[in-house]
Amino acid sequence: MAPDPRIAICPGSYDPVTNGHLDIISRASAMFDTLIVAVVNASVRKSKSVFTAEERIGFIERATAHLGNVEVVPFDRLVVDFAREQGAKAIVKGLRAISDFEYELEMNQLNRSLASDVESIYLMASPQYSFLSSSGVKEIATFGGDVSGLVPEEVASRLQEALGR
Ligand code: ADP
Repeated sequence: MAPDPRIAICPGSYDPVTNGHLDIISRASAMFDTLIVAVVNASVRKSKSVFTAEERIGFIERATAHLGNVEVVPFDRLVVDFAREQGAKAIVKGLRAISDFEYELEMNQLNRSLASDVESIYLMASPQYSFLSSSGVKEIATFGGDVSGLVPEEVASRLQEALGR
């Protein structure tokens, strides 16, 4: 009997996806049979997203089309419940700075108490993306700065349309 496929999820809001996210997604996709990029589509988030879930999903799908084993799926429930529903045994997260670590440590303890069968795995951000965040990119775009090189080309021009002054 063939072993169960190894499935992982990579959750986030991806508003919008950055080259830092894509670096983690591509590295994680090499470690699993299937990598599901789980895009938060929930009104529980305090701040409104710049892009709709459909737009955020489209950006990621087009930027990962060359990776054969990546799926992009919206979700609006607990990450561990979503992971179980998808048959995933692992949650993959990227870690940038100490601040990410503190937050992730807390989330890890909570998720562990909810679902000890789903393991979290952390990939260190590549140095060139260590200070790259969706919120930083939005701030740069709002003030007319150049975000090419930080996000896929399509995302850079859509950010300029959406936020540029
Ligand atoms: P952001 O913090 O940029 O708003 P998300 O909430 O969409 O991003 O985060 C999804 C996941 O991607 C988180 O695990 C986050 O730590 C990780 N991540 C975000 N930006 C980077 C980056 N530049 N390098 C590595 N991991 C990142």
